[in-house]
Amino acid sequence: MTRQLGRPLLLTSAGLLAALVFWIDSIPEYDFSISILYLAVLVLVSAVGSGKAVGRAAGACVILAVCAWAVNNLHQPSPTSALRCVLACIAILVTAALLISRKRLEATKQDLELSRSQVELFANSVPYVLWRSNPRGEIEYLNESWTAVTGLDRWTVLEGQRYNDVVHPEDMAVLVETVTAAVASRTTTNLKVRIRQVDGRYRWMQIYDNPVLSPLTGQVERYGGLSDVHDEVTAKEELQKVRAELEESRTELVTFTNMVPQILFRADRNARVDFYNERFTQVTGRDLHAVIEKQDWIEDFHPDDREAYLDNLRRSFASGDELRDTFRLRHADGSYRWMSIVGRPVRVAEGAEEIRYYGGVSDIHDEVTAHQKVRELNETLEQRVEERTTELMRTERRYAGLFDVSNITFAEMDFSAAGKILDEIKASGVSDLRAYMMAHPDELTRTLDAIHTTRVNEALARLMGFESVAELVANPPQQNADDGPEVLLRQLEMYFYGIDHIDGRTTLTGKGDQRIPVYFTVTRLPDGLHLSSHLNLSDQEKIEEMRRAAQAELARANRVATVGAFSASIAHELNQPIASMLMDAQTGLRLVARETPDLATLGRILQRVEKTAQRVAGIVQRTRENIVAGRRQARAINLPLLISDTRDLLDLDLKRSDVDLEIICADAVPMINGDPVELQQVFVNLINNAADAMRGQPGVRRITLRIAAEATAVRVKVADTGPGIPEEYLEKLFEPFFTTKATGIGMGLQICRSAVEAMGGQLTVANQMSGGAIFTFDLPLAPEGTRLHG
Ligand code: ADP
Repeated sequence: MTRQLGRPLLLTSAGLLAALVFWIDSIPEYDFSISILYLAVLVLVSAVGSGKAVGRAAGACVILAVCAWAVNNLHQPSPTSALRCVLACIAILVTAALLISRKRLEATKQDLELSRSQVELFANSVPYVLWRSNPRGEIEYLNESWTAVTGLDRWTVLEGQRYNDVVHPEDMAVLVETVTAAVASRTTTNLKVRIRQVDGRYRWMQIYDNPVLSPLTGQVERYGGLSDVHDEVTAKEELQKVRAELEESRTELVTFTNMVPQILFRADRNARVDFYNERFTQVTGRDLHAVIEKQDWIEDFHPDDREAYLDNLRRSFASGDELRDTFRLRHADGSYRWMSIVGRPVRVAEGAEEIRYYGGVSDIHDEVTAHQKVRELNETLEQRVEERTTELMRTERRYAGLFDVSNITFAEMDFSAAGKILDEIKASGVSDLRAYMMAHPDELTRTLDAIHTTRVNEALARLMGFESVAELVANPPQQNADDGPEVLLRQLEMYFYGIDHIDGRTTLTGKGDQRIPVYFTVTRLPDGLHLSSHLNLSDQEKIEEMRRAAQAELARANRVATVGAFSASIAHELNQPIASMLMDAQTGLRLVARETPDLATLGRILQRVEKTAQRVAGIVQRTRENIVAGRRQARAINLPLLISDTRDLLDLDLKRSDVDLEIICADAVPMINGDPVELQQVFVNLINNAADAMRGQPGVRRITLRIAAEATAVRVKVADTGPGIPEEYLEKLFEPFFTTKATGIGMGLQICRSAVEAMGGQLTVANQMSGGAIFTFDLPLAPEGTRLHG
């Protein structure tokens, strides 16, 4: 407002001043010039006017000065006045020029100021951090965006040159290196680093720092800036990650397709294949890429299948249907195998017209050939069934003939129902059938009940004492053998363990409960049938029994005689001392019965009784030794033979006691020296004792007799699986009359020990770790010359 009012005021004042100066100057009476005051007019004009106004004012002032001079001096011009006028004009013009020039300078300055503030405004309004640095790389200017971005005061940062504080520590090294190199080589820095933002988080920013030759200083200055490229960088990273993932899943997909045990393919509707997995090469032996390039996949098809396949393919592809076919494909080894192909049409994209076929080719050769075989078999089945039936009928007739007319006994039993039960038992995890059946008698009965005799022949009926099979069927015995269930259990084991054949001895129960010892064999036939045959052993058994009975009788007589002789001898020898002890006892009793017993005499009598009793023991010992010694007839003995004879002797007894006798004999046993009768008695005693100890005992009942040749003797061991000998009896066992048996006399072991000692050996007893007792003794070798191997 003041400026608006001041301007006309000053211009008016300038005009009035000019008019005043002209008026005074034009007064002729004044011989002086005040035209210099026109300069003040110019100053006033220049204060508010433009350069042009000053110019115009200067022109007007010059005209006024010249006019004033002319008014006063034109009638009589003088050089002095003219010079004065000229000087005044020059002064006006020079001042005007100076004022105009000042005006111009001011205008330029204003312009400069304007553009500087415009630049500053621009620099601060762009969303980038901008700076200028000196040739040494020190930043001298930072725009306001610095503070907006980093939150740090730009002036403080400039003062301390601490702009690197905002750079991520991990990017620091590369930044320093890059900037230093760029400053040194005067090249542009273009780098992405992470810059800490006002919120403390780091963002990726692009540093662009360019060297520029300053026209003002003639030096290289650097102008640069920071732009936020975080989103771009992270997007790029994200993109790279997605790309890597894509690549990974692509590789995985390729690996997967190559692992599939089928040929996989992709084709367009023109049957142009553009993908095969590696299986194609493995199967056909041809390079899949070459085949894709040449599109000659039909070459691998069997010539006979090509046309039909291509027809089907064209039809399916034309209609956009699924492709399904089978054909023979040539494999790498040149052979053709039946393959099945399935191709599914899939649209390239949702709603797109174009479709591709994705599919697989799998090997169905085995199924196809199996089907072919089944077809062929079906075609010939009827004929084969007929042939087989005729053959079977022929076999059946032969078998039936053999069965019925033979003198050999046959019985056919059907185990198929029992077999089913056994299958169930096996499936439940049972491995020891016998143990299982023993533990489950009901199950055994159920299984045995499931066995049926389907056929017996005449020979068997006759063996059992019947007139015919019809009579046998009409009067079946309650139990057909002594150990019938055992034999049947063995037959169940045949089924259970897949044994084809068993045999053994048993005693059949025939007509009128007659007992027929037989040797039997059982053979497994197909369809769960068992065929058994029997051999009558009655005659052989009778003879054998008589022989054994005679031998056993002999042995028993021998034993009775031994004990008898021994008893007689003892009785004879003991008669006198026992009579003496009796008398002493009677005298003693009388002495005790008196009113005042004669204790001194009683003591003497008792001492005599003691001495007599000791004599009795001595007599027993000596008498026995005499008996044994008296019978000794030492000679060379073939031990294995003697043992074999003894076994025969005891066979029946052992069988009755259900005891096994196992004889383990070294290959070559030298002859020994001894009394065969006594030695046999030793074996008889030891074996009988062992059998007695095991009688009625469950589990294994076995006596093992071992003979082994030592350096100077033959060692004999008799072991059993019985209860063994209680510790407290081990010492007493060989004492006379020691027995634990109700009917025993306790002399057996005493006699055995004496007999062995008499032959130069020593009989000892021990308990085995595995249970049972073991008796051991050595027998001396026969003298050289008589010592032939047994
Ligand atoms: P006896 O046979 O008349 O009892 P022995 O002298 O032959 O007389 O046997 C004495 C005792 O030794 C027997 O009653 C028996 O208790 C014990 N004995 C003998 N042999 C065995 C054995 N193998 N196992 C367990 N005890 C045995």
